[in-house]
Amino acid sequence: MSKPKLALYWAASCGGCEISVLEVNEAILDVADFFDIVFWPVGLDFKYHHVEAMADGEVLLCMFNGAIRNEEQQHIAKLLRRKCQVMVAHGACACWGGIPALGNVANREEIFDRAYFTAPSVDNAEKTLPQTSTRVAEGELKLPVFFDTVYALDQVVPVEYYMPGCPPVVDQTVAVVQTVMSGDLPPAGSVVGAGSKTVCEECPREKHDEKKVKRFRRLHLCDDLDPTKCLLEQGVVCAGPATRSGCGGKCVSVNMPCRGCYGPAAGVTDQGTKLIAALAAVIDSTDPDEVQQIVDTIDDPLGYAYRFGMSSSSLRRVRTHG
Ligand code: SF4
Ligand code: SF4
Ligand code: SF4
Repeated sequence: MSKPKLALYWAASCGGCEISVLEVNEAILDVADFFDIVFWPVGLDFKYHHVEAMADGEVLLCMFNGAIRNEEQQHIAKLLRRKCQVMVAHGACACWGGIPALGNVANREEIFDRAYFTAPSVDNAEKTLPQTSTRVAEGELKLPVFFDTVYALDQVVPVEYYMPGCPPVVDQTVAVVQTVMSGDLPPAGSVVGAGSKTVCEECPREKHDEKKVKRFRRLHLCDDLDPTKCLLEQGVVCAGPATRSGCGGKCVSVNMPCRGCYGPAAGVTDQGTKLIAALAAVIDSTDPDEVQQIVDTIDDPLGYAYRFGMSSSSLRRVRTHG
């Protein structure tokens, strides 16, 4: 009897989610025993035409990581969607746009201008830009169209399950694959491999819900942090109150603030506005001028609020003039 088929793909991705799959160590043997891996660009030499030749629905599970930044990624997302029964958005970039979606503060023209002309390391006197089609002696060379806006996977194709994390922690990757292997699937649309509370609820630090903050500080500039107390109440921006549990408080238990990679907590539609509300709750002032001064000490408000979720946020992108 033939085995169920598994496909893995990376789109606009750093590769971390792919590496996290390899980190399942010997459990990969169980996966390889249960599934035929039929597509996995980072690990195996399958080509797009191998996927195109499959029947629609022939692949049981597709684990898709990375956001959609260009035409090729959109094409492969649509192709894999046709071929698979269960599509999992694997990691923060596929779930909500992730780090690549911070590019939504600019448009394509602005990004190309920076990347190919004005970045300090660029040497491009002839002002060469990548072209989608170039004619050479051997024929036509093509590059995918680079989109103005980065999309989450479900803004391009329907998705059954969302597996948060940057990358998802290994135990949860194993648990999700085992769930699919068992056939006992949760309802479509579920966030899988994560908790239903917030990171604060799995954080070992003491939190007193007090207004204590007169200024926000960057972590590397603090030499007086109490390792037992809430980072946010000590003025370090921590996304724990706005972020879904499930990682076990990985960062906050080693003196790093939560950056929000498990996405919005259950019931939260916009992680950024939830974080802003949490920041407001610790500011020690009611005087508008002083509040403004305290807010101005946050060095990168948009980056903190939408580090992993710009595409799926209520903003989606910053309006540009290109
Ligand atoms: S979710 Fe994180 S680890 Fe995964 S591809 Fe995106 S940036 Fe990389
Ligand atoms: S805000 Fe951060 S440091 Fe404070 S309790 Fe929540 S997760 Fe822990
Ligand atoms: S503490 Fe926050 S940033 Fe760190 S792994 Fe957990 S959810 Fe992600």
